[in-house]
Amino acid sequence: MAELKGLSESRDLTRIERIGAHSHIRGLGLDSSLEARDVSEGMVGQLPARRAAGLILQLIRQGNIAGRAVLIAGQPGTGKTALAMGIAKSLGAETPFASVAASELFSLDLSKTEALTQAFRRSIGVRIKEEAEIIEGEVVEISIDRPVSAAVASGSSAPSGVVAAGKTGRLTLKTTDMETVYELGGKMIEALGKEKVQSGDVVALDKASGKVTKLGRSIGRSRDYDAVGPHTKFVKCPEGELQKRKEVVHCVTLHEIDVINSRTQGFLALFTGDTGEIRAEVREQIDTKVAEWREEGKAEIVPGVLFIDEVHMLDIECFSFLNRALENDMAPILVVATNRGITSIRGTNYRSPHGIPPDFLDRLLIITTQPYTEDDIRKILDIRCDEEDVEMSADAKVLLTKIGVETSLRYAIHLITSAALSCQKRKGKIVEMEDISRVYQLFLDVKRSTQYLMEYQSQYMFNEVPGEADGDD
Ligand code: ATP
Repeated sequence: MAELKGLSESRDLTRIERIGAHSHIRGLGLDSSLEARDVSEGMVGQLPARRAAGLILQLIRQGNIAGRAVLIAGQPGTGKTALAMGIAKSLGAETPFASVAASELFSLDLSKTEALTQAFRRSIGVRIKEEAEIIEGEVVEISIDRPVSAAVASGSSAPSGVVAAGKTGRLTLKTTDMETVYELGGKMIEALGKEKVQSGDVVALDKASGKVTKLGRSIGRSRDYDAVGPHTKFVKCPEGELQKRKEVVHCVTLHEIDVINSRTQGFLALFTGDTGEIRAEVREQIDTKVAEWREEGKAEIVPGVLFIDEVHMLDIECFSFLNRALENDMAPILVVATNRGITSIRGTNYRSPHGIPPDFLDRLLIITTQPYTEDDIRKILDIRCDEEDVEMSADAKVLLTKIGVETSLRYAIHLITSAALSCQKRKGKIVEMEDISRVYQLFLDVKRSTQYLMEYQSQYMFNEVPGEADGDD
């Protein structure tokens, strides 16, 4: 019984979807001319920064920015991480995106340069192409390079140009003249009556001679592979030259190749993340192999994006590593973020803008984020309420926005969940002002917390107020 209970509890738990701090961000919210829409894809305001991020996105897509670096600088809670998230989401699944906080690089298990190398290699993709032989019954892609028309003799819907030659996989017929095919669909069925073409067959038409050749059976939609019978045959088109080609493409990151080939770590380390140090010789061999594949046209490098948050936490050695790593021709695009102004460079006594050494600063394209207006805060809170599935009255939203302006956006976002709990407790359906005021009193924001400590500091342990001697900046 107890076991069963445990089981049902665990099932319930899996149904709970996690809502992360940035789960509402689905892209950068730009239109086709890269102008930022006021509210789109979960993004609000911050228009100049989003426009700049859009340009960077275009450079990334065109492959023009490899080895460069971008700095997103701005006050806490102004959406720097949200912006980086927006870039990542817009890049699509094939572009690798790795994200680390600079403080994660300092651990006892890995040296910081190894941790940085792994982060770099997690953000470099390799598209490996394999040409395969065509075996009878298998499905292939065909492209026809002379104008040939093809149609599915279904008599009704437009021909899809998809033919199949087997039970699994896909055979795509690309013609240079699909529009004609569309028009001819109906007529061809008549012409083909004598040829014993049945509904669902796919045919090619040589427009000059009017001769029709059966290519195979239609599979309807390209995903319905099973609908195709083994009788389906591939027939050469009389006029057009058919090129048979089957290509299998794998996308992996350099780090994945490293781990799989590292003898000390089996590929399972990929799942546990416990990869340990990977020997330099392994990486050298892999780089040589990938270079060979590139020369033979079997592989392409896909430079992804490496995002390092809290970049002021890196020390001078890490910065010098980054300077060198960016020179590599396979380097990803590096996006770093910080909320620090002029501060000391970790590991030195020097101070510099954002705690970044001048030589590295010189490499950066800098995007700044600005504090939010009241209107922006209201819109972001609206989006977060939707995301967290919290219904809130208009009055409560006005109050929460006011709190957001007075304290911080982050604090106001946190209050949404706790106010919803307070509402649930009093068995209400909609979060009202009373819920907001209640949680506002329960949880202190930074200003009130500081004030409270100033008043009651004598009652705490180690209660010295920072004096001139130990003030840090
Ligand atoms: P810090 O300097 O403290 O790391 P940050 O600048 O990285 O802060 P975020 O963490 O990106 O700030 O923003 C705080 C919260 O507000 C997050 O939940 C984020 O998703 C949300 N947010 C920030 N800016 C926007 C925006 N323009 N549109 C939608 N949501 C935003």
